[in-house]
Order: sequence, then C-alpha cells, then structure tokens
Amino acid sequence: MIRQNEDKIFCKRCVMDTSIPGVYLDSQGVCNFCHMHDKLDKRFPVGEKGAMILQRIAEKIRNDGRGKKYDCVVGVSGGRDTSYCLYYVKEIMNLRPLAVHFDNGWDSEIAKSNLAKLCDKLDVELHTIIMDWPESRELTNATIRACVPYIDLTDDIGIASSLYRTAVAENVHYIILSHSFREEGITPLMWNYIDGRYTRAIIEQYCKIPLKHFKNVELWDMIYWILWKRIRVINITNYYDDTGEKVETLLKEKFDWQDTGQHHLDNELFTLVYYYARRKFGFDWRVVELSAKVRTGVISRESALKALQEIPFFEDEERIEHCLRKQGISREEFEAIVNAPNKYFTDYPSYYPLLQKFKWFVWILCKLHAIPAHTYEKYFHAI
Ligand SMILES: [Zn+2]
Repeated sequence: MIRQNEDKIFCKRCVMDTSIPGVYLDSQGVCNFCHMHDKLDKRFPVGEKGAMILQRIAEKIRNDGRGKKYDCVVGVSGGRDTSYCLYYVKEIMNLRPLAVHFDNGWDSEIAKSNLAKLCDKLDVELHTIIMDWPESRELTNATIRACVPYIDLTDDIGIASSLYRTAVAENVHYIILSHSFREEGITPLMWNYIDGRYTRAIIEQYCKIPLKHFKNVELWDMIYWILWKRIRVINITNYYDDTGEKVETLLKEKFDWQDTGQHHLDNELFTLVYYYARRKFGFDWRVVELSAKVRTGVISRESALKALQEIPFFEDEERIEHCLRKQGISREEFEAIVNAPNKYFTDYPSYYPLLQKFKWFVWILCKLHAIPAHTYEKYFHAI
C-alpha cells in the first residue's frame, strides 16, 4: 500500500513530488493532489455562489438553534484563519457561536492575546479546555517515541474531542471549522494520519504515566456524535476566498490582532512538529501549503520552488532547543529517536482497514457534512 518513488519527479503544476508517499503523476505529469484540488474546487464554489450557500447554511443553523444559548460551536486558536472564521460566523453569517479552544500548553502569548481581544470585541463567549500539562507533554513524547511522522496526533484528537463534547453539552448540532484546501492544501495521509484506535495503540505502547484527563475519540464516539446526536461539521472556509493580506488587514484594524508568524505557529509545538517530520522522514510541510498557493494562483510555481530551497522557518536552533527542553527530552534522546527506524500508522493497529471496507459510508458522511468534506479524498486518494 505504501508507495514511494526514490526518483524525485515534480508535478508540472504544483510543487509536490513523487518522493512523497501517496503522490502519483498522470500521463501529463500532473499529480493526484492537483486533481483532488480541482474536484473540491468544483464542489465548493466561492464568490457570490459561495456566499449564497453560506447564507443558506446560516439560515439552517439559526433555525436549529432557536431557543438555545448558542447555535454553533467554532474551533479557534488565535491564528489568522480561525480568527477570521469566528468573525465571519458572528458578523457575516449572523450566528450565535460559542468559541472553543483546546489548550495543550503550547499557546503562544500572541495567540492568547488575539483570542481574548477577538472574543471580547465580538462579544463571543470563549470556552477553553486546558489540558493537564504533565499529561499533554507525556502524550506528545509517547508519539515521538512511536517514531511516527506526526507528533501532534493526540492534540488533534483533543481538539476534535473538545469540539464534539462541547457541542453535545450545549445541545448544538453544528461545529464550524476553518480548514481551507485552497490555502492550506491537503496533507498526504501518511504524514498525519489520525484515528482513535491508532492513538490508543500508541498510548498503550509508549505512554509512561496513567492518563486521567485525556479523552480519546473512538469509533463509537464518532457514531454516537454523528448518528445519534446528529452533529454536523461545516468548513465555511471552503466557500469564501478571503485570504492572505486582506484577512490580516481586517483583523488588525477591527481587533488589534497580531500576526502569530508562520502557519500554525500560534501553537509553538509546531516548530518541533515540522522539524521532526523533515529531519526524520524528509517530509517538508511547506510543500503542502506552497502547492495549494500555486494551484490558486497566489504565488507562481517558480517562486514556490525557490522558497523550498531556502532554510525552513522551523529550523531555528533556539526554538527547537526550547521545545525539547519544555518536553523534557534531551538532545541525545531526540537524536536516537531520529536515527531509529521510521514507522507509519500502518505499523500500528488502526481503523484504516475498516474504513477502507466502508469507503462508501465515509463518502455519504462527507456529503452529509457529518465529517469534514475533504475527508474522503484525503483518506482514499492521498495514499
Ligand atoms: Zn500537483
């Protein structure tokens, strides 16, 4: 199932290349991720059409939320995309959101201050789930010891868990997210596969302390939330193309918002997440976002290829040192893990074989907005 060509051939349209597991080129030299982008681009129109769809969605959410304190839950981090999403939900869609933030102990000071200012000025209540720090740290370290590419696995589970559980507690049927395939691209499945069974397997094998606070997301949790509680997930970012500078200027003017630096650095652990993936696996996360920007015409393919030649922003010794110190991992220990054999989710028990058998069901769930709409493409076309 895992296929990786050693000879690196670049896609003729974006900057993905065939050394990345799951990247295939067609007879024209265009990769499957570009085809996925085109498919999603057709399915999710932007501009006037997108705005109309969002208004219809807003109406549905408002009707469903009548008599409730909130009508939706919005995942926020203090970074650009989630901040704009919260603004859009409140001011443009006229909804009554509850902002939900999962704090794994790595929030940057700028992100924290952004969140406070944003929620205050928008008059939106913020519900922060603060993860127990010794547990949060050990969960990340367990994932590092497992030698898999994505060491932020348990935090993504924590985010999903917080959003769904808050929606259930508030009797809300809609979770609003802000992942954009146009801005952020689609990450190859081997790079950041996530599921509850896989997470459980890593915890059982590598976690050295008992966990009292962490709540995993098992298959039955998902079934309960989706089928019984009828919770839907809407990625509103798919329907608008407000990006880059335009968004930042608005946030700065309206909310005195500050740039958190590179993508995802509202969470400082991401320096280590990116650095580790590139050092140990040769997975350069910049490729995904740069490719997305080339496809949407934000930057040229030439400048993206040039950007890849530069030293990555996450290769900053001081920041990496800080991350390792905070995680309680010595340099020697870290280097030993980097040099140990690489593993992937396919080396651990996971729900993936089951999901493959029920591909059609995943497809239906995507259509129903029961799970993020690009999940089907990501899980079955990006491997
Ligand atoms: Zn491509």
